Amino acid sequence: MKQKRRDFLKTTGLLVGSAFTALYPAKSLIEKSNGFKMNGKLKLSYKPYTLELKHVFTIATNSRTTTPVVLTEIEYDGMVGYGEASLPPYLGESHQTVTEFLSKVDLIKYENVFDLENILNDIDKVAPGNPAAKASIDIALHDLVGKLLNQPWYNILGFDKEKTPYTSFTIGIDTPDMVRAKVKEAEVYKILKVKLGRETDKEMIETIRSVSDTPITVDVNQGWKDKNFALEMINWLKERNVLFVEQPMPKTQIDDMAWLTERSPLPTIGDESVQRLEDVIKAHGVFSGINIKLMKCTGMREAHKMILLARALGMKVMIGCMTETSCAISAASHLSPMVDWADLDGALLIKNDVFDGTKIIDGKLTLMERPGIGVVKT
Ligand code: MG
Repeated sequence: MKQKRRDFLKTTGLLVGSAFTALYPAKSLIEKSNGFKMNGKLKLSYKPYTLELKHVFTIATNSRTTTPVVLTEIEYDGMVGYGEASLPPYLGESHQTVTEFLSKVDLIKYENVFDLENILNDIDKVAPGNPAAKASIDIALHDLVGKLLNQPWYNILGFDKEKTPYTSFTIGIDTPDMVRAKVKEAEVYKILKVKLGRETDKEMIETIRSVSDTPITVDVNQGWKDKNFALEMINWLKERNVLFVEQPMPKTQIDDMAWLTERSPLPTIGDESVQRLEDVIKAHGVFSGINIKLMKCTGMREAHKMILLARALGMKVMIGCMTETSCAISAASHLSPMVDWADLDGALLIKNDVFDGTKIIDGKLTLMERPGIGVVKT
C-alpha cells in the first residue's frame, strides 16, 4: 500500500500544476454578453466584521461564541461583487492578517476582469498561506463576473441547479437532554453531523439514536490517536446508520490513516489533511474522499479543480464550510451539484447574517436564480 502510494505520487505529481487551465468562463459566453464595455477598473474594498454564534461551538480542540470575518467588495463599471473571509481562530488567520494581505493586493492593473486564472494566480503569489484572505477575493471576483455575464455560477459551470445535495446540520456537543432537544429541533434536516473525538463519543451517538433514525455523519477532527481504536469505533458506528467518518486521525499519522481506510467499512474523508489542490493527490490511498472548503483552498476556482481531480482519482467529494455568512455559503453551494455530500450549514449557526442567498429548504441546498453567487445584502 505504502509503495503503491509513493509510485502514484511520483507519476501523477505533474498533473497538479498543469492539467487545469482556463476552465471557465467559456469564451463564447463572454462574447455573447454583448454591450459590455471592458473599460472599467477593478476596485477592492473590505471591512472586518464579527459573526455571533447562536450556540457555543465546541469541537475536539476548543469552544467559542464568535467568529471573525472580513467582508470584501470588488467593484467594476458600477457592478459590485461580494466576497468573504471566515477566520476561525485555530486556523491562524485574523482580521489583522487578512486586512494586511488585502492591502497588498492591486487589482487596478487588470484590464480583463474575465481572466480569472491569471488574476487569481497572481493573488496566490502575493504572500504564501492566507487562504481565507485569498478566498475573499476569489468569491468577490466570481460574484462580479457572474453579474457582468448576467448568469448564476451554476449556469456558467454547466451544473443542474436541482442536483444540489441535502446539507448536514451540526448537532453540537452538549448534555444528553440538550442533545435530544437539538435533534428534535433539527427534524427537517435529512443528515445530522456530530463532532466526535472525546470520551463521550458513544454516549453522544446513542443519545441521538434514542430520538432519531436520521443518517449521521461524524467528524472526529483528528481526535482518535490509535488506529485499532479508530477501526473499532468505525465498525461500531457502521451499525448505527453513520454515512462516513471525517478526519478520524491526526494529519501527521499518514500510514495509520491509510491502514484504517483500507479496512474501514465506512468512507473516510480527509479535512485537516487536505487544504489545497496538491493535497488531493496526497490524500489518494490515504482517505476515501476529501472535504473541500473555500476558506482552506483559496476559493471557488481552486475548489472546482479539486473536485475534478478527486473525481478523476475515483475519490468521494464533500464540500464544507466554516461559520460564514450566506455570502461564502452561497459561493460554495454553486459547486455542490458536483459533490457527494454537503456540509453547508454555516450561515444557520449565526445570529447576524448580512446576506440573503442560497437557502436550505427541507434540508436541501436551494440556489437562487440570481446572477453571480446569487446573494443580496440584507
Ligand atoms: Mg471537519
